[in-house]
Amino acid sequence: MKGLYVHIPFCEYICHYCDFVKRVPKNKEMIDVYLKALVEEINTYKTHFDTIETIYIGGGTPSMLDDEQLSFLLGSLVDIHPKEYTIEVNPESYSEEKGLIFKKFGVNRISLGVQTFNQQLLHYLNRGHTNEHVFNVIDHLKSIGFENISIDLIYAIPKQTIADLEHDLDMIQKLEIKHVSCYSLILEEKTYFYHQYIRGNFEQVDQDLEATMYKMVIDSLKTQGFEHYEISNFAKEKKYSLHNMIYWTLGEYIGCGLGAHGFIDGSRTYNESSLPKYLDHFLKEKTYQEHSVLLQDELIFGLRKISGVNINDLEDKYSIKLMDVYPKLQEKIDIGLVHIEDGFLKLTEKGLFLGNQVFMVFI
Ligand code: SF4
Repeated sequence: MKGLYVHIPFCEYICHYCDFVKRVPKNKEMIDVYLKALVEEINTYKTHFDTIETIYIGGGTPSMLDDEQLSFLLGSLVDIHPKEYTIEVNPESYSEEKGLIFKKFGVNRISLGVQTFNQQLLHYLNRGHTNEHVFNVIDHLKSIGFENISIDLIYAIPKQTIADLEHDLDMIQKLEIKHVSCYSLILEEKTYFYHQYIRGNFEQVDQDLEATMYKMVIDSLKTQGFEHYEISNFAKEKKYSLHNMIYWTLGEYIGCGLGAHGFIDGSRTYNESSLPKYLDHFLKEKTYQEHSVLLQDELIFGLRKISGVNINDLEDKYSIKLMDVYPKLQEKIDIGLVHIEDGFLKLTEKGLFLGNQVFMVFI
């Protein structure tokens, strides 16, 4: 499969934990100029349009584009006929008109940035929506025929209690959606929280509590009928994120937009993340990937999938013997972080919590 990622680097406000490539735009013109350049970049990949099977419009906040800007962007993609077409939506910037524009241009999957249903924690994260926004957006999306709705949730937020998380997980059941992405809050440099941390005003959740919360997420979502198919992702009725599956299986994807990256024709591409530079020439770097690097990526990304990595396929593809190249893997097997089952290398339940210790073997 081949995917197309399109980045919209604008937000109405900046969340305290966010280290994505984004900014609050100065005015509408700034967005217009960016979109014109973005569409120009997308069109440089026209020869790939026939083979693209997933489109993912992420950000930033794509749903903050106005109706005209959305129509311009989505209109530039009409020659692509993907199986899966996702756009990220922030609940407060959705409108019924925008939902209809998504529909008109063939978007068939919505990824909604919910993060938590606790209003105080939302405020703490500097998010700008309420639960009412979330319910209204989901109701409207369903009423116009969107069946594939995913929500993003964050756990291990400082001050979040077990009861808070339980409440969030209960709310998911009420929403009757098909996909959940659930990540722990990571303290990233160049964020408001990081600055607070340096000043001693931010206390990270302790690792044991984080592990307890992760287990709660897994157990609760499984009880609700979700399949845990990737470290942080859960789906009902096999509605996996096909676009993300491309990343985890080392498939090809084109990355367009500010700071976007791609993997195409054996090379990783990295776009400029400074707006003036991007408007001038898009691409910052293109690096051909040696077999050894691809093998490493294939294992690190592949092990994120609960189904793991098919050892025979991997050994044939790279003409190697896994244990010869990575003898230290045996130690991780011995301490129960990974195991081999029916020819697949997989993280164990313990390994899901300590994946980084396994990934280090491949670096
Ligand atoms: S988390 Fe999303 S909405 Fe918040 S600043 Fe980052 S990109 Fe923008």
